[in-house]
Amino acid sequence: MDAISPLRVVLVLAVAVALISCEVPRPRYAQPSSSAPVAEPSPASALPPAPASPSVSSPASSPSASSSPASSSAPPPPSAAVPVVRRATGAFTAAPGGQEAPSAPHVVRYVVEVEQGLPEAPEAFAADVQRILSDPRSWSHTGDVAFQRVAGTDADLRVTLASPETVDALCAPLNTAGEVSCFANGRAVINQARWELGVPHFSTGLTAYREYLVNHEVGHGLGHQHTPCPGPGLPAPVMLQQTYGLDGCLPNGWPATTGG
Ligand SMILES: [Zn+2]
Repeated sequence: MDAISPLRVVLVLAVAVALISCEVPRPRYAQPSSSAPVAEPSPASALPPAPASPSVSSPASSPSASSSPASSSAPPPPSAAVPVVRRATGAFTAAPGGQEAPSAPHVVRYVVEVEQGLPEAPEAFAADVQRILSDPRSWSHTGDVAFQRVAGTDADLRVTLASPETVDALCAPLNTAGEVSCFANGRAVINQARWELGVPHFSTGLTAYREYLVNHEVGHGLGHQHTPCPGPGLPAPVMLQQTYGLDGCLPNGWPATTGG
């Protein structure tokens, strides 16, 4: 029998917290049975238009590429030609292989998985996630935590790339509206539409947005709550809901930048 480590306790608590703290406006969930319309920011208002049908479509443009001066030197989105699949199979393939973790007081074992029917290869998505979580600017920057990617089922959390409709199912009762991502039930659920399209206001490019997306949702898995923009022109905390907007902050995907 395994002893219950403090980290696992933290992660269990984090899951409970994250059920009310992902990238979804909270009012809707605070009043789930309200019959009155709830005035809340529309996730879609700040996001590229998502194709409603057919279930597979190609992005017509690169929303995070060259629409602003700050992104003029950024490389084009690496996967701009990858289609967004609105609804895939609901089954997942875990990326094979893994990595050893650096020494740290707490080692988070995570599995990377991709919904079957999506065009992204699990190995490629896992390589991106592993690069992000292993970066010294990620959550390991404090020295308290390290990440170990594993392929089996004995993991502390999962990083899941899923089609928008599957995201909605995995994140329920949170309302991800087919547009945004969440952390729920031990899963950092990454919406494939956002992974491929980013958001227009993230002027540092799609790769930087992906770094934000993974660090933000995994941050929920570590128990971190949303954090406001500390002031205009300052780097955004990674736990700011940057998919919706920056509130005057500069886009940032790394916890170490702001000491988060
Ligand atoms: Zn969040």
